Amino acid sequence: ERLVSDRTHILAIDQGTTSTRAIVFDIHADPVATAQREFQQHYPNPGWVEHDPEDIWRDTLATAREAIEQSGVGADAIAAIGITNQRETVVVWDRATGKPIHNAIVWQDRRTADVCTTLKEQGHEDLVRARTGLLLDPYFSGTKVAWILDHVDGARARAERGELAFGTIDCFLLWRLTDGKVHATDATNAGRTLLFDIHAQRWDEELCALIGVPTALLPEVHDNSHPFGETAPGLFGAAIPIAGMAGDQQAALLGQACFEAGMAKSTYGTGCFMLLNTGDKAILSDNRLLTTPAYRLDGRTTYALEGSIFVAGAAIKWLRDGIGVITRASQTDDLATRVPDSHGVYMVPAFVGLGAPHWDPDARGAIFGLTLGATAAHLARAALEAVGYQTRDLLTAMVDDGSTRPKVMRVDGGMAANDWLCQFLADLLEIEVERPAHLEITALGAAFLAGLCVGLWPDLDALAATRKQAKRFTPKMDAALREQLIAGWRDALARTLRHP
Ligand code: ADP
Repeated sequence: ERLVSDRTHILAIDQGTTSTRAIVFDIHADPVATAQREFQQHYPNPGWVEHDPEDIWRDTLATAREAIEQSGVGADAIAAIGITNQRETVVVWDRATGKPIHNAIVWQDRRTADVCTTLKEQGHEDLVRARTGLLLDPYFSGTKVAWILDHVDGARARAERGELAFGTIDCFLLWRLTDGKVHATDATNAGRTLLFDIHAQRWDEELCALIGVPTALLPEVHDNSHPFGETAPGLFGAAIPIAGMAGDQQAALLGQACFEAGMAKSTYGTGCFMLLNTGDKAILSDNRLLTTPAYRLDGRTTYALEGSIFVAGAAIKWLRDGIGVITRASQTDDLATRVPDSHGVYMVPAFVGLGAPHWDPDARGAIFGLTLGATAAHLARAALEAVGYQTRDLLTAMVDDGSTRPKVMRVDGGMAANDWLCQFLADLLEIEVERPAHLEITALGAAFLAGLCVGLWPDLDALAATRKQAKRFTPKMDAALREQLIAGWRDALARTLRHP
């Protein structure tokens, strides 16, 4: 389904884990205005992470208005809005008032680890894997929704009566932007709930019953490029169609123009997520990677293999905010460059457990190899190196699953600004690492989807043609040194895992 528009710009909303951004793109896919706000994280218990959905809504509206204002083109030049979001994070709200009944439970939150273990022990993981491409890990939405229903007074009964709605953040924002008129999500966000059959492309009643989520809560699921609805009058001055939605990692794959099977990207923000386009084949991993819809366009689903690491930039944030050894994230680049090596220090950033390919929700962060000679620079370097080692582990798992090794790894996300890290990645992955001129690739992916729907760009080739010159990092590390570093990492990892 397409809309026709003679408007010239797209507004992308990128609702991330730590901040909300709004970016106006022009027809050349160049960002012309950006607004960003960081918002509060809530850690009510160890391993728990929550957001206040009202903070998210407030910042979304404020940054969208600010970006439109700053762009100077006016709301009536915005052809469409694309939304991309932190995935798996869940909101349950009252359909009558639009008010959330609990804070959003964030993807990093581990509170449902026990539930997942029980489901696994009961032997349900094979069914879950076959239908959803996912694993029984608290990372995904379903068990978090059930938790809210079981811990907010009367919620389960109200859910069964159809009084409540569940949505990931895209869906919640769409609801608010359309003033409660539209309750819908897209195939990529639905594909992360544990409740959605990614092959049949529909909610799965058996899984909903297994996880304990009444189907009355669920949104409609559409293609990623789709006329989802229109902004309520009064929000922006002009009614703007919301015409594209995708989870942040899938949006990044699109923004990196990885449209062919065998192309891969890795995004370094709070966490790190590597996605490899596998075309129309949904490859089931033997190495505990995820199978996930990459995008669904005109009813056709393209799949990806995904490796998810929960902590990448978050370890840098911890160095800054948790223990105060740096004052700015970008300092880690200079610090890592200044020392010849990590002085034998290894950081295993299992702050919220470990994701792919280990999936150990009970592991916790560790630092090994400390001597009296270790300094802040070594810690910073160890934190960056850990990102490299984990990325290598993901790529190795993908190749073991039968994918051909991609020729290039396209990188993005806030942390990809770090030159030292990009070079280390090239050295460890033993392939070229390519960083695009603009790092706002996730937002660009959402803009692409919205732009496709309104005809600003005719097809995927037109999107790929907007790609700007990139910086390349070429492997140059000596093989013996690489092997030695990796052996040290394996040792540190083995000492950290709780369920090896
Ligand atoms: P998200 O969208 O997940 O909130 P971003 O893509 O904005 O994250 O990336 C921000 C993360 O990257 C933060 O965790 C920050 O610590 C880290 N970061 C930002 N710049 C750098 C840098 N130059 N070197 C290392 N880490 C960085």
